[in-house]
Amino acid sequence: MSIQKIGVVGAGTMGNGIAQSCAVIGIPVVMTDIAQAAVERGLKTIDGSLERLVKKEKLTAEAKARAMGLVRTSTDTAALKDCDLVIEAATENLELKLKLFAALDGLAKPDAIIASNTSSISITKLAAATKRPDQVIGMHFFNPVPMMQLVELIRGLATSDTTYASVEAVTKQLGKTPVKVKNSPGFVVNRMLCPMINEAVFALSEGLATAQEIDDAMKLGCNHPIGPLALCDLIGVDVELAVMQVLYEGFKDSKYRPAPLLVEMVEAGYLGRKSGRGFYTYG
Ligand code: NAD
Repeated sequence: MSIQKIGVVGAGTMGNGIAQSCAVIGIPVVMTDIAQAAVERGLKTIDGSLERLVKKEKLTAEAKARAMGLVRTSTDTAALKDCDLVIEAATENLELKLKLFAALDGLAKPDAIIASNTSSISITKLAAATKRPDQVIGMHFFNPVPMMQLVELIRGLATSDTTYASVEAVTKQLGKTPVKVKNSPGFVVNRMLCPMINEAVFALSEGLATAQEIDDAMKLGCNHPIGPLALCDLIGVDVELAVMQVLYEGFKDSKYRPAPLLVEMVEAGYLGRKSGRGFYTYG
């Protein structure tokens, strides 16, 4: 099935990045959110991001105007009813997403594909909330979406080959590289990345080295562009904890137990960059 129009549910960090990536390649996109303020913030972020590309001469002013003209916004999910693909990028919460999937199933075109950008929730579970589980798939983009190459495509138990093929094609059209992944806690990247960050938190709490030394060691020793603790601050300390909990509960394997310091930092409200303090402090 060829995808002519895309809907994005949630205008936050990921949603506005996904909408931008679609509009830039000429696909009309409808971006919805529950709050008008969130929709406006999302649109402003897209505008600012495209403007930076114009300043860097990576995009012409005309191309920016064309892309902005392709983004429609709404606070009413009914605005998604004529989309061929709806990508859900709302808050990471199982109850919320189950409700959303049932609602989207009720209003989307019968042949429309419904995808989720979830980092940790089972695609099979979300698909079961609809009457079209064969047309449900995971499209796990990375942050910041316009810059990051990878999209993990997650097949639920019922996802059909045609759904996979359509979503694989549109992912390539977006200029991204799809990697096919089985539905499993953390998929591929978070399954490996989050335990590494968690281990860095254990190392810090054991006094192995300071945060700066741990980060410098991984940058210089492994050629990582950013150290694990600085990365944790960027991702969000709460998000890292949530993923570790999903891995721990999903596999029932003690190797995924969250570092106690991670739990304590979340209790203290040290959530990383977004709260001004995590493993480092931010102005
Ligand atoms: P965010 O908090 O920045 O944005 C979520 C948006 O969803 C908010 O604007 C909120 O108002 C909106 N929302 C909540 N309920 C809604 C509803 N019923 N209908 C429409 N909109 C609704 O979150 P985010 O970081 O963009 O994450 C979104 C999804 O992407 C999550 O599932 C997350 O796990 C996943 N994800 C996040 C990252 C990341 O680095 N932030 C990376 C990959 C995947």
